[in-house]
Amino acid sequence: MTAASTRPRVLVLGGGFAGVGAAQKLKDADADVVLVDRHDYHTFQPLLYQLATGLLETTGVGHSLRDLLARHENTIIHKARVTSVDLDARTVGFEGLAPISYDYLVFALGAEVNFFGTAGAAEHAYPMYTLPHAVRLKNHLLERWESADRDPELVADGALNVVVVGGGPTGVETAGAIAELYRGNFAKDYRDVVEADARVTLVEAGSELFPMFKPKLREYTAKALAERTVEVRTGTAVASVSPTRVTLASGEELRAHTLVWGAGLQGSPLVQSLGLELQRGNRIGVGPELTLAGHPEVYVVGDIAAITDTKSGGPLPQLGSVALQSGEHAGETIARMIAGKTTKPFTYRDKGTMATIGRGAAVVQMLGGRTMTGLKAQLAWGTVHLALLPTNEDRAKAVVDWAGAAMTHQRVGRITVDGE
Ligand SMILES: Cc1cc2nc3c(=O)[nH]c(=O)nc-3n(C[C@H](O)[C@H](O)[C@H](O)COP(=O)(O)OP(=O)(O)OC[C@H]3O[C@@H](n4cnc5c(N)ncnc54)[C@H](O)[C@@H]3O)c2cc1C
Repeated sequence: MTAASTRPRVLVLGGGFAGVGAAQKLKDADADVVLVDRHDYHTFQPLLYQLATGLLETTGVGHSLRDLLARHENTIIHKARVTSVDLDARTVGFEGLAPISYDYLVFALGAEVNFFGTAGAAEHAYPMYTLPHAVRLKNHLLERWESADRDPELVADGALNVVVVGGGPTGVETAGAIAELYRGNFAKDYRDVVEADARVTLVEAGSELFPMFKPKLREYTAKALAERTVEVRTGTAVASVSPTRVTLASGEELRAHTLVWGAGLQGSPLVQSLGLELQRGNRIGVGPELTLAGHPEVYVVGDIAAITDTKSGGPLPQLGSVALQSGEHAGETIARMIAGKTTKPFTYRDKGTMATIGRGAAVVQMLGGRTMTGLKAQLAWGTVHLALLPTNEDRAKAVVDWAGAAMTHQRVGRITVDGE
């Protein structure tokens, strides 16, 4: 790509499933593609909980964007934070990088944590949406156990207790994984600490966990969590958080030095500056082609977009497969337009709804209503999620990583790298 290029420029903002999906489909387009992300890596969010609990290391969850797109000769990558978007001038501003103008824009900045104004959450909670979040949680859990090892009295103060907020997939899988880390590994790692006194509590404001699943899958989930010693509290909201206490809306105070937040998402604050009418969760509404009304050159894809499902008429969920497919659609459509070919509206191919709970425990509900649980469901989860990885090399590496972790259950990542 040269500065004097006369080819159309496609600017992709965000290197998540949606942004990378778009860039993949633009590989052979007669265009200059520029992808910008605040990180130099793509985050595989569905496995953040495995990083937080030491099963995978950072490179098992974060993949170099430059590596992923190394074979795309028409593509360059910048690591920079997007600070402004001028839709009329077709220009995007960045922190520390000169503004970039575009002919086509793929807006794929994803979502960020929503604490719903819960007092103390922004300061003291441990959200689970980014790689730094997962590393921070892992380090904090290790630090609390090391402290309790030195001073066992801390256990009674709740140093090892964890409250996880959110009865959706993020909360359930994180609670399950932390309980397995505690009972399976820390129980042996810290022999002087009474591990049974360390409690993992899952709090959900709604009346049940996993409302999107059939009752029998919800029952399976409750049983699998109980087997892992996760205490479930439904119909209870968290009112406030301090470094050592979690207060519920009922006034009850839980002793816990860790509150993991897996309860809600909102579009990045940047979308509020665009002067658009936003939908629930600050998501940007798009038409059937995934473009912005009045801006056919702007594609909005992934978690940041409110995409209508052509089959149900409702909004599509914020899922990896929705993000990947919508991003791919944007990339493919732009490539076809540049080549003077016809385009078609977006349709989502539903691969089923699924979630993991722990080792060998997962639930799957297919579109036709068929369900699976246990190891079979976990394998189905693995197959669908492998497809989210961008290259065959990544898939091969993931199979080795996941199989190794599943077979040995060794949590080699449970070390703290700090100090000198
Ligand atoms: C813990 C967790 C578990 C999940 N589990 C599953 C699962 O099992 N199955 C499933 O299908 N889905 C799962 N999801 C949802 C799925 O990961 C998301 O739907 C998907 O990642 C959305 O992709 P995206 O590309 O829209 O956004 P993201 O993946 O969030 O990517 C957005 C990118 O934009 C970048 N960015 C954001 N703001 C800026 C800025 N201002 N400047 C520059 N760059 C910026 C970010 O660094 C990021 O790389 C899970 C999500 C979480 C958090």
